[in-house]
Formats: sequence, C-alpha cells, structure tokens
Amino acid sequence: MAAKKEQGFSVPGSFDHVYGAAVRAAQRCGWRLDHTAPQSGALRAVHGVNLFTYGEKIDVAVRPRPDGACDVWVKSECRGIQMVDYGRNGKNIALFSSALMTELQASTMPAWQPPPASPAPAARFCSACGAAAEVSDRFCRICGARSS
Ligand SMILES: [Zn+2]
Repeated sequence: MAAKKEQGFSVPGSFDHVYGAAVRAAQRCGWRLDHTAPQSGALRAVHGVNLFTYGEKIDVAVRPRPDGACDVWVKSECRGIQMVDYGRNGKNIALFSSALMTELQASTMPAWQPPPASPAPAARFCSACGAAAEVSDRFCRICGARSS
C-alpha cells in the first residue's frame, strides 16, 4: 500500500567488497542501519522520521554474479500508510547509488606503489671495448678480452 520505488543495477567487485561498500554507503547517507545480514547479502536501513514524514525504509540486496560483479537491488519504501512519497524514495535510491559508487571507488583506489624498477643495468662493462658484459662472462662477447 505504501509508496515505494525500487531499482537494480550492477557494480564491479567481489561480494564482500560490494557488501562492505553498501553498508558504508548507507551510513554515508545518514541512515540508521536497522538490520544487516552479510550471509544473505541483505541490509536494511531507516531514513529518519521528521515533521513531514514517517521516514522511509530502505532495503538493499547484494548478489554476486558469475562474472565477478555484483547485482545490487535497492528498494525504498515509505513507512506507515503514506500513498505519496513526494519523490523521496527516488531520492533515497539516487543518494544510495551515488554513495555506493563513492565507497567503491574509495576502496578500490590502489595504494601508492613505487614505479616498477627498470631492468637492472649490466653489472659491468668490458674494460677493453666498453661493451656491456654479464657478471658470469669470463670473456667479452664482443671483443673476446678476458674479464677482470
Ligand atoms: Zn670487449
């Protein structure tokens, strides 16, 4: 009976990664987490009560996909018997989607790594002709001079 809106989309990332981001996204939205069930991928949050509304209940379901991404299903439903949501359910879903993307990006941002080292330079050079020589070479491969 109550007004509701739902939307599904898929996001890259493993289940644990996406579920964790979904929990943080709900918190980022300022919602109160009512119920979390990581085993089933479900979480429920409540958007607070104010003077004009009973607030909304938001259900999120995260399901892993065979391709390594996850399907995320979000449903926002007015609490009580409101028949008109004044756009709040749609706003909740949009807010959650964008918070989830922010969380996913924040958590996939790779830590800074030093650039890969360039191949080690030749350990030494032939004293006769200057050609690069391996440490193991006993004689220069270019001029045949004995390595020291
Ligand atoms: Zn040489």
